[in-house]
Amino acid sequence: MHCPFCQHGDTQVLDTRVSEEGDSIRRRRRCSHCDKRFTTYERIELAMPTIVKKNGSRAEYERGKLVASITLALRKRPVSAETIEAAIARIEEKLLSLAAREVPSDRLGELVMRELKKLDKIAYIRFASVYRNFEDVDEFAEVIREVRPKKGVRRVET
Ligand SMILES: [Zn+2]
Repeated sequence: MHCPFCQHGDTQVLDTRVSEEGDSIRRRRRCSHCDKRFTTYERIELAMPTIVKKNGSRAEYERGKLVASITLALRKRPVSAETIEAAIARIEEKLLSLAAREVPSDRLGELVMRELKKLDKIAYIRFASVYRNFEDVDEFAEVIREVRPKKGVRRVET
């Protein structure tokens, strides 16, 4: 840690404290060269991975894009904003838990599909049709079969 006043490389830690919230550490330092004092903070950095698209191009993870595509899939469906928010939080947690610098967009897509499948079947089919880029009606039918309750099994909508 360089001194901000004289750029000297040798500084001494006088005091270390954890913030009340427990999410940062504050250190009081003294420059051993000019004797000036300054404070540094350490915070936990939760970095989202870079998303690698199919064509190899990379993009920063953007929460807004994720929210937009999920909201679009859930348009006019009976799913509350809180439920959507919780699903997005789970997707982000999962992304962080991968602890990878880069994640293929496919992987992100699968995480979204998994959440939508739990939230709303129609939204799931909508998202899948765009995301998987269905080329024929058979692929579409396949996804519908996936979410359709089996014959003879009564499902209670919750
Ligand atoms: Zn200094």
